Amino acid sequence: MRRRAFLFGLGACAALPRAARATGGLDVGGGPVSFRAVRVLIASGAAIGAPVQLDGWHFSWRGRTYRGAFSLVDLSSGRRGLVNAIPLDAYLYGVMSREISPAWARPAQMAQAIVARTYALTKIRPERPYDLVASEASEVYGGIVAESVEGRDAVDATAGTILTYDDRPAKVAFSACCGGHTASAAGVWKTPYPYLDGVRDPYCANAPDATWTLALPQARVAQTFALGDLREIALRDVDATLRPRTIALGGSARSIEVPSETFRAQLGASVLFSTLIATARVDGPEVALAGRGRGHGVGLCQWGTRTMGAQGASPQEICTYYFPGVRFGQA
Ligand SMILES: [Zn+2]
Repeated sequence: MRRRAFLFGLGACAALPRAARATGGLDVGGGPVSFRAVRVLIASGAAIGAPVQLDGWHFSWRGRTYRGAFSLVDLSSGRRGLVNAIPLDAYLYGVMSREISPAWARPAQMAQAIVARTYALTKIRPERPYDLVASEASEVYGGIVAESVEGRDAVDATAGTILTYDDRPAKVAFSACCGGHTASAAGVWKTPYPYLDGVRDPYCANAPDATWTLALPQARVAQTFALGDLREIALRDVDATLRPRTIALGGSARSIEVPSETFRAQLGASVLFSTLIATARVDGPEVALAGRGRGHGVGLCQWGTRTMGAQGASPQEICTYYFPGVRFGQA
């Protein structure tokens, strides 16, 4: 009966055969959920090797088993690509534990499942050879080995449920830790969405990367941006989400002002955890930075979701907190 807690009156979801959903198989009948499929690029280049189709609904590649079917495609880069075609919710089985810990509370799992499903749905591009990649560039996907009981439960319990705005799938996003205030899509992507304007987030204060410091060699920053010697760094035009829109860099060869997203991308997203940079200064041979959060910060904050779920918030409450104004619909 606990599954009934999250139906939103979506009778069609509840009517889908439970046993069939749990297989993730393509042979499920009876509802629109079953026929949604995504194509995930799981490898590219010369070393793809030879995947083996095991039966109608599974194949094996490099010792891992994947649901669905595979195809080898030609990519625009001229390389070969290995693409996994798979029902949407079966794909989500292989995403959940790669995005959040199975140990997190069930409402957090369910909120993540809804947002991951919505995200995937908005990325379907029939005109291209694939819709998603299996890495953080889309959502991290690992096939059956990545599945967990908790992740499958969250996908099944929210089967087909997505977030909508104006009766269309919402443009959702998520990242590890927003640092206390989610970012605005207008700031990060230069495209505003009313439900991605940034919200204050008191729930991720205990995240591992809630605050961070970083000391980079001055020469590294100077070389990255062709500055000569770096003499000065300053945060400019801090927006309502506390993120500087640009970083001013004064060097012996030239002085420039770069968007903070560019600054982070050029230095490496795994080096500079976020654009929520609170302080920056040249300190002798180093550039000393301090900031908060990890990831782009737009949309759902995974560590905040963890706390909200642990404190008893419902999946609905979590989703509408991070995406104010969205409604719930069906894929
Ligand atoms: Zn947060």
